[in-house]
Amino acid sequence: MKFVATFKTGALASALLLAVAAGAQAGTGPAEISAHARALQAQAINLDTHLDTPALFSQPGWKISDRHAFKDDGSQIDYPRMVEGGLDGGFWVIYTGQGARDEAGNLKARDAGLARLAEIREMVAANAGTFELATTADDAARIKAAGKKSVYISMENAYPLEHDPSLLSFYYRQGLRMISLAHIGHNDFADSAGMGVAPEGEHGGLSEKGRALVAQANRLGIVLDQSHASNAVFDQMLELSRAPIILSHSGAYDVFAHSRNIDDARIRALAKKGGVIQVNSLGGYLIDTGATPEYRAERRKVYASFGDRHELTAEEREQAKAKLAELDAKYGIRKADFDDYMRHLLHIIEVAGWEHVGLGADWDGGGGVDGYEDITALPKVVQALLDAGYDDRQVSAILGGNTVRLIREVQALADPEAVKAALE
Ligand SMILES: [Zn+2]
Repeated sequence: MKFVATFKTGALASALLLAVAAGAQAGTGPAEISAHARALQAQAINLDTHLDTPALFSQPGWKISDRHAFKDDGSQIDYPRMVEGGLDGGFWVIYTGQGARDEAGNLKARDAGLARLAEIREMVAANAGTFELATTADDAARIKAAGKKSVYISMENAYPLEHDPSLLSFYYRQGLRMISLAHIGHNDFADSAGMGVAPEGEHGGLSEKGRALVAQANRLGIVLDQSHASNAVFDQMLELSRAPIILSHSGAYDVFAHSRNIDDARIRALAKKGGVIQVNSLGGYLIDTGATPEYRAERRKVYASFGDRHELTAEEREQAKAKLAELDAKYGIRKADFDDYMRHLLHIIEVAGWEHVGLGADWDGGGGVDGYEDITALPKVVQALLDAGYDDRQVSAILGGNTVRLIREVQALADPEAVKAALE
């Protein structure tokens, strides 16, 4: 047994902590899923707008067609578990961590983005009986009817385009239909929201280059994703974009004041312009876990002491888990659970209106909480929404209908000439 290796910073830690916490009872959501909830899900189009699973595609021995267990390798999505959880597909992410913003860094990012794009397309090609590339709003229903899972492609952090923004046309031709501008650090396109307290902006929102990218994404009918960017970027993107925008994986600032979350006034502004917010399940954004800089430093030391996590044996993995559990106890770390996730989701539905909310749990990118560890737990959200009083039409919209509508609207506002030029 090996650790899945390419989690983003902190994601492996979250995965391990969750594994440690597994078995807890309180706050872990509905124990039973009703026949009604299952039937509703079977009828709905269930999409998640931020699947970081492509980071696993290049891992030796890891296959999307195999069933994995979260407790064994920390992974949260694969074909058998998508079937069990009722997920019909979603946006599969080309993620690039923000690195040096010089020529060498930009070229490295360019290559990393292209490599990840190829890996996603190769996964689909190698699993043609179970997955299919999706590029239009109608594809989601068509692919579900064909008994397959849809693979829309998105990019998290436009860093791979810094060297040459015109590559966006190539990505579009290869299937890219959603893009976010920045990740946890500022880049040449936009300011980041940072990781807790918002850092001082560099561009005061979007740079000139960022504005040009927004305009080009509009022309091509690529959905603009504001998750991870600063509030100023939100305001400017909302103003500038001709099409409604998405927050592919975000939470509510008014529930937990973290710079990765968005406040109620902005949620209302998003909805007013026809946008959609997809609710994130990354524990550290949902609640104050009590993690201090000292705790994080000690945790990094534990990781360092275990060396290359690709090479860990099952025994070493258990040892790492035990050390992390010890550390959590020492610092009194609280773990987010299913109820914490629902608190954000229900709050956002109330503020935005059910027509403007969906799910972007950040699976395989640090998402998942106690009682909501992998995609097999998706029916719990369906049950919890029904229990909260939402009807079939509303729940179905939240599960994916709203995302499909957004894709349709954004593509309808594209410039046919620009699309034609990109496809040539
Ligand atoms: Zn993210």
